[in-house]
Amino acid sequence: MTAQTSTDYESLLKRLQDKLGNTVKKVKGRLEIPTPQIIWVGKNTIFRNFMEFPKALRRDPEKFLLYLNKELASAGYIAGERVIFLGRKTPSSFQALIDRYVKDYVQCPVCGSPDTRTEKNKKVGFLICEACGAKSSIKGNYA
Ligand SMILES: [Zn+2]
Repeated sequence: MTAQTSTDYESLLKRLQDKLGNTVKKVKGRLEIPTPQIIWVGKNTIFRNFMEFPKALRRDPEKFLLYLNKELASAGYIAGERVIFLGRKTPSSFQALIDRYVKDYVQCPVCGSPDTRTEKNKKVGFLICEACGAKSSIKGNYA
């Protein structure tokens, strides 16, 4: 396929999408982040819908958990769909950590797309954007 055909195809697609309006699902839509469901049981905190997050963010559950454990100074462990953290942690602290995780580990700093994957090279984490192709280094250690 030549570049010309590709451009024609894209503009045709764009016109079609404009015509169809909302019936076409956007491929590069905003990331839909679930709301963390946090409950306290005794001295522990249960993150009831933990597994929805690695799924929505397309990240390894173990790595996402490692990040939360480090930031919360806890030793949470996965139990089915949930994670049980030792100690009482506030729902707002989870919300803040998830927001930061998305910003530092998921969203492309160049174009803002959440369609990214991570890559590790000599202990340095990189964020590869599938939308714009940018390769950015990740600040945190839990990529
Ligand atoms: Zn990008």
